This record gives sequence, structure tokens and C-alpha cells, in this order.
Amino acid sequence: MTDLAALLTVQELDNTAGALRHRLATLPERRALEEANALVVALTTELAGREAPQRELEREQRRLEDEAEGLRAKADSENRRLYSGAVTAVRELQAIQEEISSLQRRTAQLDEAVLELMMQIEPLVDGVADLRGRLEAAQAAADTATVALAEAEVAVNAELRATLSQRAAAAGEVPAEALARYEALRPQLAPSTVVRLVGSRCEGCPSQMPSVEVDRIRHLEAGLVDCDECGRLVLH
Ligand SMILES: [Zn+2]
Repeated sequence: MTDLAALLTVQELDNTAGALRHRLATLPERRALEEANALVVALTTELAGREAPQRELEREQRRLEDEAEGLRAKADSENRRLYSGAVTAVRELQAIQEEISSLQRRTAQLDEAVLELMMQIEPLVDGVADLRGRLEAAQAAADTATVALAEAEVAVNAELRATLSQRAAAAGEVPAEALARYEALRPQLAPSTVVRLVGSRCEGCPSQMPSVEVDRIRHLEAGLVDCDECGRLVLH
């Protein structure tokens, strides 16, 4: 009887372990970490989406600036040729002047286009900087949440280990056959696989046991019997 009573302790500890596992799976810190990670992913995606058009405009700006620089260099060189004294034919000198004017017009157009691009880029840069700041904050929050979850897990895991070691000790006191019956039934009947017979009531049954059943159980040797009504193991 003493041995069998330990089965109730085993069950209680199994229930505690189950509750601790549930707590581990549903720690608020885990939820907080999931939310923080989701925010990091969302902001990363948004940032990539905003950076792409900014980069494209910046590439275009560099391309136009390079082109304008090339044209300016060419205009300078034409200018030097104009005043070098090497060219003396009036027609050729006129042609050089026209070429220089044309290069300058084109350069002015490019400069204007660059300014327009810079005006388009400016608000994008502000938006991207703001997003980067928010992403950094979100990453820091995710790091903090990771630490908080680890700490919460350590605490619950310690409790779980202690419970499992108590369970192992209690299980050692229960006859192997009774423990096997309990473990086979527990998946369906947990957390009240083993119950006591209290007066004429099986603790697991919603109503009174039929007196025939109570009599049957009372006349059995003290021990563990199957309740015909609810299928639980009744300790009496
Ligand atoms: Zn019952």
C-alpha cells in the first residue's frame, strides 16, 4: 500500500512536469522574442525596398556626373586648342567655338539633371536613415528578448530537472507492474490516471459508483483496480 501510494506522488510530479513543459513552451518571453524578431524581419524588408530606388537614383547621379566631367574636360581641351595658336583657319576656329558651346550646353543640362536627382534622393535618404535607426533599435530589443528568454528558460528548466529527479525517486518505490499500468493509461487519462476510492466514490467518476462496483472493489485485496466506469486506476 505504501508502495502504491507513491504512484500518486509520481502522478503529481508528472502533472507538475507537464505544467512546467507547458510553461516553457508558452513563456511570455518567447512570445516577446518572436514579436521582436518579426519586427526586425519586417523593417529589414522595408529598408531593402527603400534602399533599392535610392541606390538606383544615386547610380544615375554618378553616371550623369561622370558624363558631365568628361564633357567639361573635352571643352577645356578644345578651349586650349582654340588659343594654342596651332589652329589658324577661321572656319576651323569657328567650328571649335561651336563645339565648345555645344559641350557647355550639354554640360549645363546634365548639371540640372543631377540637381533634380539630388532633390529626389534627399527625402529617400531621410526615410532610409529613419528606418535604419528603427531597425537598430528593433535588433537591440531582439537581443534583449533573447537574453530574457534564456534566463526564463534556465529557471524553468532547473525546476523541471528537480521535478524529474523527484519523479524518478518516487517511481522507484512503485511496483514495476503498477507503474507500467499507470504509464500505459496516462496518455488518455492524465492528469488523473490514478485516483483514490473515497467512501463509495471513485474520484475519477462524475457520479457515485454503483454499489455493486464499490462492493467488488472493497472485497478485492488492497491495491490498484480498474474502475469499470471511467477506466481509471483506483487506489484503495
Ligand atoms: Zn471511476
